[in-house]
Amino acid sequence: MTTPDAARKTLGQALDLLRARTRTIAHVEAVSLTTASGRILAEPVIAPRDVPSVDNSALDGFAFAVADLKEGRAPTLPVGAYIAAGEPLSAPLEAGSAAQILTGAPIPPGADAVAMTEETKREGDRVVLPAGATPGQNIRRAGEDMRAGTQVLAPGRRLRPQDIGLIAATGAAQIAVFTPLKIALFSTGNEVVEPGKPFREGDVYDSNRYMLRAALESWGCAVSDLGILPDERALIQTALASAAETHHAVVTSGGASRSQEDHVAPSVLDLGDLHFWTLAIKPGRPLALGRIGAATFIGLPGNPVAALICLLRIARPVLGVLAGRSWLDPIAYKVRAGFAMNKKPGRREFLRGRLDRDGARLTVQKFAPEGSGILTSLTGTNGLVELAEVVEEVKLGDQVDFIPYTDFMF
Ligand code: AMP
Ligand code: MG
Repeated sequence: MTTPDAARKTLGQALDLLRARTRTIAHVEAVSLTTASGRILAEPVIAPRDVPSVDNSALDGFAFAVADLKEGRAPTLPVGAYIAAGEPLSAPLEAGSAAQILTGAPIPPGADAVAMTEETKREGDRVVLPAGATPGQNIRRAGEDMRAGTQVLAPGRRLRPQDIGLIAATGAAQIAVFTPLKIALFSTGNEVVEPGKPFREGDVYDSNRYMLRAALESWGCAVSDLGILPDERALIQTALASAAETHHAVVTSGGASRSQEDHVAPSVLDLGDLHFWTLAIKPGRPLALGRIGAATFIGLPGNPVAALICLLRIARPVLGVLAGRSWLDPIAYKVRAGFAMNKKPGRREFLRGRLDRDGARLTVQKFAPEGSGILTSLTGTNGLVELAEVVEEVKLGDQVDFIPYTDFMF
C-alpha cells in the first residue's frame, strides 16, 4: 500500500486540487417552474424580449409632454384619454393634452413624463400639473430590467424564489436543471449502533449518518442511506465498490485513520485512487478523498464535529460542482473575538462560535468544550470561526473570520 502524499496538505492546497479535478456529473432535465425552486440551473436563461416590453407608467397619474407646459403660464392641460394597464397599446397623445394613466399602462406616443395623481389637481376636464417636470419622470423604460437577447441568469446557481420570479417574467414555464446528485452514505465502526436499536455500554449511536444525510438532503442530493459497515476489510471493500457503480459519490464516516481497524482508505486505494487523507486542519483529520471508478469518494472523519466541518468546508464545494453548481467558497464575516487563545501555527483551526450582538457590535464567543466528539458544541453555536495557518494567537477584541452555518448551502 502506498501513501498518496506523505506531506500534509494545507486546506487551501487541498481545495485547489479538488477544484481542478472536479467536473459536473449530474444530468440535465426540464422541470416546470413550479417545482424548480432549490434546483440547480443547467442552462443560461436568455431574455427573449425586453422586460418591460414597452415604456410604461411607474404610478397612477397623468401623462403629458413636458414641452406643452409653457413657461409663465399655469401648468394646466385638458385631460383627453384614459389609459389602464392591460389594454392594447395606447393611441398617441393629442397635442396639448394630458392623459390619465394607471400604473403599468403603456405611455402614449407623444408623452414624455408622468405626474403622480397626489401632486395634481383636477379642475373639471382639466388637470393642474406640478411645476418643474423633467422628461422621463415616472416612466419605466422598455428593457430597463432585461434586454432582449441578453443572459439574465447563468447556469450553476441554485434557484431562489427571486430567480423563479425572474424566469417567469421572461415567459418560460419550463427550465433546464440538473438532476439530483446520487450519493451513497455509510457509517463505519463495530461500536456504532443504529438509533432505536438496543444499546450496550460503550456503544455509540450513529449520529453521523443522520446528520450528514440531513445536510446532503438540504442541498438537494438524493441520498441512499446504506447503513453501518463493520470494521471488516472485505465487507467494506465490497460495499464501496458496489455503491460506486450506482452513485455519483460515496460518502463514509469513520475508519479512515491508519490503525489496524481502519479499512476505509486502504479499500479505496485498492479500488481506485486516493488523492489525500491528511490535512493540516483541526478538527478534521483523518479525511480521505479519492475516486472509485466514476464515483467521487469522500471519507469523512468518525468524530461527529470533524465529520460535519469536513462536509461543510471541503465536501460541499466538491459535491456542489458534481451537482452542477459553481465552486462554492464560503464568505467569512469579520467579527470581534470575545475570547483569547493561543494557537499552533501551521494548521487551520475551526472553532464553534456563537455570534451575539454586544451593544452596537457583533461579538463571537467560542464554545468551551472543543473536543471533536462534542456534538453540543455544534448545537450550541451558530457558525464556525476559521483561524488561518499563520495565526498564533487570538487576542480579545481581534477581528476573526466567522461563517454562519446557514451560509453552508448549495
Ligand atoms: P474512527 O475514525 O472510526 O476512529 O472514529 C473516531 C471516533 O468517532 C470514535 O470515537 C468513533 O466511535 C466515533 N464515531 C465514528 N463513527 C461515528 C458515527 N457514525 N456516529 C457517532 N460517532 C462515530
Ligand atoms: Mg472506527
